[in-house]
Amino acid sequence: MAESNKNQTAAERARLKELVGGQHSTHVCASPTCPNPTDRIVMRELYPVVTMVPRRKTVFYHKTCGPKM
Ligand SMILES: [Zn+2]
Repeated sequence: MAESNKNQTAAERARLKELVGGQHSTHVCASPTCPNPTDRIVMRELYPVVTMVPRRKTVFYHKTCGPKM
């Protein structure tokens, strides 16, 4: 009984993590080449980049749209 409860908890945690990853952030993609620039980015796709020029701010991209290093 106790063991199955432990497994359930692990499964539940994985499920919650997946739920959070599937939620939309409040950010839209800053890439000029983004195919969906007006769609809010899903958490697991979020790619934050801090810019120094012209001033320090954070912009957000999809992981697939972010600047390549
Ligand atoms: Zn994008």
